[in-house]
Amino acid sequence: MEYLPLFTRLDGRPCIVIGGGRVAERKARELLACGAEVSVVSPSLTRSLEGLADSGEIRWIAEPFAEDRLQGQWLVVAATSDRALNARVFAAAEAQQRFCNVVDDAGQSSFISPAVLRRDPVTIAVSTGGSSPVIARWVKGLIEAVLPAELGRFARLAGSWRERVKSAIPDMDLRRRFWETLLESSVPERCYAGDEAGAEAALDEALAAWRANGGERAGEAYLVGAGPGSPDLITLRGRQLLAQAEVVLYDRLVEPAVLDYARRDAELIFVGKRAGTPSITQKQINRLLVERVKSGKRVCRLKGGDPMIFGRGGEELEALAGAGLAFQVVPGVSAVTGCAAYAGIPLTLRGAASTLLLTTGHGHAKGAPGLGTLDPGQTLALYMGVSRYTPIAAELIAAGNSPSLPVAIVERGTTLEQRVIVCALGDLAEASAELDVESPALLLVGATTELAARYRWFAPEGFVHYKGGYHAQSQRQRLVV
Ligand code: SAH
Repeated sequence: MEYLPLFTRLDGRPCIVIGGGRVAERKARELLACGAEVSVVSPSLTRSLEGLADSGEIRWIAEPFAEDRLQGQWLVVAATSDRALNARVFAAAEAQQRFCNVVDDAGQSSFISPAVLRRDPVTIAVSTGGSSPVIARWVKGLIEAVLPAELGRFARLAGSWRERVKSAIPDMDLRRRFWETLLESSVPERCYAGDEAGAEAALDEALAAWRANGGERAGEAYLVGAGPGSPDLITLRGRQLLAQAEVVLYDRLVEPAVLDYARRDAELIFVGKRAGTPSITQKQINRLLVERVKSGKRVCRLKGGDPMIFGRGGEELEALAGAGLAFQVVPGVSAVTGCAAYAGIPLTLRGAASTLLLTTGHGHAKGAPGLGTLDPGQTLALYMGVSRYTPIAAELIAAGNSPSLPVAIVERGTTLEQRVIVCALGDLAEASAELDVESPALLLVGATTELAARYRWFAPEGFVHYKGGYHAQSQRQRLVV
């Protein structure tokens, strides 16, 4: 069930609460706090609700519920302990198209109440769609911990300057940048310290300085590594820059959840490529990137994993540098470290592996050496080339590697669909065909890979120890740790 979050204005609007107990009282008070005209339907009331009725703050309808009471009401809250009655209220509200909440019963509600965090005028509402109020309150607590207690003061000041700043900086993008720089200036700190006159003077000064500089229209590119899958694995810096960008160019390997960190009004452009299918070319991406930055935008070029590892980051930097444009590069967790960590495979291990080689199975540069023989202490990580595991295994064995050398395929590493397949090099082709391995997958070759069987900790159902025909007859070198 998808809910549309709304902030409603209830001042002066009739709202009705059915029930006269403690829960009804809490709901009536919440509505009163927003200025609603509250009626309470119940033959009896708590003491404190009675007090509110006596002072005229609420209207008490001391009768059993009747359907026609909902006429003219903007919101209906059913807060009785009688399930049948609550159901009747809900049915009546549905029939009359009134928004209705049955307390603690999301299934019988057309609106639900979030956990609310107030730094007026900043209001943060957290909902779990009615599935767990405890989680909603926990999330609220997390947010509470990072929000300055006096955020509201700064928000009020910003509100009172909004029109002035708007006429001083008519361009929307520039204006937003002005406000963003202000967030990192001394203005909010002065507000939090209670020095509103000082904050206002600093704001005035900042605006004058901004206008004197003609604003900062210069665009910039951010080459950001989004990590290999899990949206939690983007770096803090990457997330900050992504949240600032007006344009986001993103790859196929970027999980959609990572894009949620972008601004709502950001222009999101998919520039994914897939081996073997016609799609946007690297040249077109470079051109798009340069053109958007030149037009003064802050462009986040979001890439799966790390931008500088098989991410063609170098080519995009060349395009930017060649055009004399500003850029920043933010590293990402590359597939090799992400997959190894989430599969439980040490890439180096004292006494067992001390060299890590990164290569691609997608075809080598002309004249480059082939895959070659691995020394006992080497771990090889092979990006791409899932459809070529048969010739890759053959090449590695032909170069002198033992068919019993352990390998691990990590498919969709770090995501909840992660699969880890450990087998012998001689069984690689068979295992990947039989288990239908698909891109994106990373191949790790070397003695430590079989430790995944022992150290697997993430998505354990996705672990397979494949023991094919070859393996049974091979003399395996066991790793002793
Ligand atoms: N820049 C990226 C690599 C891009 S090349 C990085 O640093 O990770 C694309 C290849 O990366 C895929 O074919 C696959 O081999 C690997 N890859 C990327 N994400 C992966 C994931 N979640 N699981 C396994 N392999 C992944």
